[in-house]
Amino acid sequence: MRARLRLSKDLRRSLSQGHPWIYDRALEPARLEPGQLALVADRRGPLAVGFADPDSPIRLRVLSLDPACEPDDGWAAERAARAAALRRADPHLAGTDAVRLVHGEGDRMPGLVIDLYATTAVAVTDGAGAAAFWPARLPAVVDALSTAGHRIDRLWLRARRSPGRALIGDQPPPLVAVHEDGVRFEVDIHRGQKTGLFLDQRENRRYLRPLAAGRRVLNLFGYTGGFSLHADLGGAAHVVTVDQSRPAIEAAARNIAASGLDPKKHELACADAFAWLEQAAAARRRFEVVVCDPPSFAPRAQALDAARAAYRRLNALALAVVAPGGLLLTASCSSHMTPADLRDAVAGAALDASRRVLVRAARGAASDHPVLPAFPEGDYLKLLDLSVE
Ligand code: SAH
Repeated sequence: MRARLRLSKDLRRSLSQGHPWIYDRALEPARLEPGQLALVADRRGPLAVGFADPDSPIRLRVLSLDPACEPDDGWAAERAARAAALRRADPHLAGTDAVRLVHGEGDRMPGLVIDLYATTAVAVTDGAGAAAFWPARLPAVVDALSTAGHRIDRLWLRARRSPGRALIGDQPPPLVAVHEDGVRFEVDIHRGQKTGLFLDQRENRRYLRPLAAGRRVLNLFGYTGGFSLHADLGGAAHVVTVDQSRPAIEAAARNIAASGLDPKKHELACADAFAWLEQAAAARRRFEVVVCDPPSFAPRAQALDAARAAYRRLNALALAVVAPGGLLLTASCSSHMTPADLRDAVAGAALDASRRVLVRAARGAASDHPVLPAFPEGDYLKLLDLSVE
């Protein structure tokens, strides 16, 4: 049944500009079920239709600004067809068969991500509301994606605390092989992080390639080797990958072999990046190019102060191992850290490390991760290319 919710704050402007979230503090209290549809209204009348997430601070995710919208299979298929068309028309996706087909809020399908690995689609939902709302609509979504030209043989729905389940087709094999500009990845969609790969960094991995030629490259938080493999194909002299996850480092070794690269060029370290950097600095190791792509240090807004300090400390440690005249590509995937926060952390780090840095480029996520202009929270991935004197 469709509930009615009253806004206690004036969100007319932000909602009409397309902001897709309504926080608990902006709504008058009401008890709803996860995924339950609700019509949101203020004193002047109805504003939006969304689904509820009663235990999350993001209490409602907006599906449509049309109060009469029925978010049924036909509605879901229409949204999916738009998302599919965007990818089909994108020349940046030509070199790969690992693509984000649905990017949640950015594709106006809030709380839903679908990544396609070759012909295996992997869906994840964010929060209890999305977990209740989306699964019944996924067959219609996949149908629309297929009709638009993306071949999908199976759909695997991952869940946070339980094993996933096959919604379409058979159970996927343990590893699914994909390629990205000559790099081969064997993706563990069952136990890998997120859906298996970090597709958001694709354009930044490509960006690294020509910068790596003839250089010693350090890839911190390297996961299954993404930046390392591209650096190698770009002609790096030597590549070190650091990640604290054993399965990730083992996968990196597999991906080096699968990509036909020389394992002797690679050093794989299963270690905490902070501790590894301290030791490397003490041993006077230096790299002409350092990539630093940590997990989110600020998963919640309350953790922001601690996160700012952690980014500053990490970047100071990373700067200490950059050879004079080298580069540091440093990222933050925390939506609570603004681009200005990251620049501040870098400026503080440069001071701490007594190094002068220049920002050469500020970059973001790949084009299959679209962002709504009035939704800064969706613009989570930031990467700065720093030249280090
Ligand atoms: N750059 C990668 C994605 C990195 S995701 C790519 O393009 O594919 C962040 C990674 O950091 C994860 O693999 C996680 O295992 C690792 N990690 C988290 N905390 C860490 C720590 N303290 N030290 C080293 N690695 C860490």
